[in-house]
Amino acid sequence: MQLLGAGHGFVGNVYPLLRGAALLDVSRREALYARCTKTLQTTAIFENGEANWPPNIDTPQPGPTKKLMQWCHGAPGVITALAADYPHGQSADMDAMLLAGGEAVWTAGPVSKGYGLCHGTAGNGYAFLKLFKRTANALWLDRARAFAMHAMAQRDAMHRQHGVGRYNLWTGDLGLAVYLWHCVAGKDGMPVLESLIELRLPVRMCGSAQRGYAPGLVHNGAQATAHASSLHQESTPHTGRTTPRTIVRARRIRRGCDVCSQREV
Ligand SMILES: [Zn+2]
Repeated sequence: MQLLGAGHGFVGNVYPLLRGAALLDVSRREALYARCTKTLQTTAIFENGEANWPPNIDTPQPGPTKKLMQWCHGAPGVITALAADYPHGQSADMDAMLLAGGEAVWTAGPVSKGYGLCHGTAGNGYAFLKLFKRTANALWLDRARAFAMHAMAQRDAMHRQHGVGRYNLWTGDLGLAVYLWHCVAGKDGMPVLESLIELRLPVRMCGSAQRGYAPGLVHNGAQATAHASSLHQESTPHTGRTTPRTIVRARRIRRGCDVCSQREV
């Protein structure tokens, strides 16, 4: 199986190559950029100015094609893998594709299966933070913050429903806490991949966290949440439009969020 996404596939491999592109000679670096563009153009599903990518590019099987819109499979991970290190202006096609992917992530709405990074609302929100950093267009930060508000409500609802939380980094509260803080600060570094060492929260931390590393997140999730709560007034509400079924799997919740009335995919 040939997978495409950031969690398990092509763009997950492209990401470290782009991060280290300066180590390549000019011809290999240009070839890397060209092949990234060609592969993603060839495999993208374009519709109404939006773009998403299927989980894999194998021979289609009978029945409906599985299409996902989450960091590990789909446009959010493509954007987080390329938006920071694929140079802006290198390829007009790539510039347009990344923006089209961002539009698809926004139109699809928050992720119903979770609020975390890997296949949840916070992970998709990082695509907006990356596009904000790449374009300096505040629209993307507004969208990231709208997703942050929704993710907090999802987190609270899931804790109430199950009576216990998820406390890990990649699908639980820790990842959400980092995302909320990045929405406050307007930063874009994906946890683990880019941002744990740089993270500095301006609050009193436990001993391990005074050095600015991950353990402090356990103690500062609530602080980040409190900071992020102030953003709700500034956030652009999600439109709640539905995404064409050819772009994202039709998996929707029955009603909108209690906080922001956003719909989920
Ligand atoms: Zn996942």
